[in-house]
Amino acid sequence: HWVRVRDRLRAEVGDVEYSTWLKQIVLGPLEEDEIALLLPSRFLRDWVRGQYGDRLQNLWQTECPVVRRVELQVQRGGTTAASSATSGPEAAQPEEDAPPATPATPEVRNDLAVPLDPRFTFDTFVVGKPNEFAYACARRVAEKPSSAGFNPLFLYGGVGLGKTHLMHAIGSELTRDGRVSVAYMSAEKFMYRFIAAIRSQSTMEFKEQLRSVDVLMIDDLQFLIGKDNTQEEFFHTFNALVDAGRQIVVSADKSPSDLSGLEDRLRTRLGCGMVADIHATTFELRISILEAKANASHVSVPTKVLEFLAHKITSNVRELEGALNRLIAHANLFGRPITLENTQEVLHDILKAHDRRVTIEEIQRKVAEHWNIRLTDMSSARRARAVARPRQVAMYLAKQLTSRSLPEIGRKFGNRDHTTVMHAVSRVTELMEQDVSFAEDVELLRRMLEG
Ligand code: ADP
Ligand code: MG
Repeated sequence: HWVRVRDRLRAEVGDVEYSTWLKQIVLGPLEEDEIALLLPSRFLRDWVRGQYGDRLQNLWQTECPVVRRVELQVQRGGTTAASSATSGPEAAQPEEDAPPATPATPEVRNDLAVPLDPRFTFDTFVVGKPNEFAYACARRVAEKPSSAGFNPLFLYGGVGLGKTHLMHAIGSELTRDGRVSVAYMSAEKFMYRFIAAIRSQSTMEFKEQLRSVDVLMIDDLQFLIGKDNTQEEFFHTFNALVDAGRQIVVSADKSPSDLSGLEDRLRTRLGCGMVADIHATTFELRISILEAKANASHVSVPTKVLEFLAHKITSNVRELEGALNRLIAHANLFGRPITLENTQEVLHDILKAHDRRVTIEEIQRKVAEHWNIRLTDMSSARRARAVARPRQVAMYLAKQLTSRSLPEIGRKFGNRDHTTVMHAVSRVTELMEQDVSFAEDVELLRRMLEG
């Protein structure tokens, strides 16, 4: 039964968690309806009980209904040898089997902090409306750690918006003159280090190390959701550091109050200092970021291409950067200039991934944005050219990019007649032949809407 329970648990939790925790469990004596599972230390016993206790009990009952209770116990001297034998070949496995994520003691002792990426500095961070507050807070903490009101600094925002960049920038700034000790790591690393410390029975050292730094930065805290023991440990570390006047910087994908699954007292404390939101990028910010990266690359990238990328890849700066890097690499490799046409070719797969089915509403929005008119004018009765022309373009694009019929399109533009739409289509076609720059505008809009 134990072998079956173990295998099922292993399949459920994955190899890494299994070999860090559960591999060490040894089957103890069975007494009537009660089974004992033995663990090498009290800490480990508590951990396994907290994380897997219920699951172990359920699995046992499924496999072997006579078992009513599963007791987790600390292995004592005498039982060790005897019960190792029952645990099969696993007990004899050498330490090298441990996953790489759980380094042995010496590593835990020697490199607490993860090295900082030298590219992620304040200088290379492009500031715009969506991130200026977070940026200012980060700068402030880098200048004067542990100032009242800024401890902890909690940075949050979606994927690829610059949280890690800002944390590294703080770290680089503070460690430049070597007087401040900074430990930066992801919450995941934090957990694995903690686990490794437990395994090697060096939790005291781990705690002492953590509590000896001037600045502790933990990235992607949302990873600790559901990891109660690690949260607990982090909470204590957090309190000890803040009480000692040290600075904490934390990032997550949501605000403290939205991180359900984190313990209340931890969320409360996280929200006590400065909470700074990094908002989704705007078109302007994406353009600025692309310009900065293009300038640094010494390859000339046409404005149209930058605009195209900024329109197409909107969610994540990392992907935006990746797309530009690929264009630059291509230009360098083949020695040909970057154009809008070859951009589409080179980025074919990336752009496809960003493709969605275009809606008429989206077309209206993009076109209105492009010519700086109000969205409501797409369906208003106003006939001034500054409004009527973009409206015609939107109708033209709706015809080209969607499968809607002329009457359907007309309805979406303030209940206009299908002949109006027809007229718009031929008018725009005509104008595109006469006016190159107008044609380019329409073409750009079409490409960014359609991909
Ligand atoms: P997050 O941690 O929020 O997921 P990162 O900090 O890893 O995001 O940022 C992803 C990539 O985008 C990094 O290469 C980073 O340098 C870059 N990046 C994000 N925001 C900016 C910005 N405002 N200026 C320059 N680069 C940025
Ligand atoms: Mg990050």
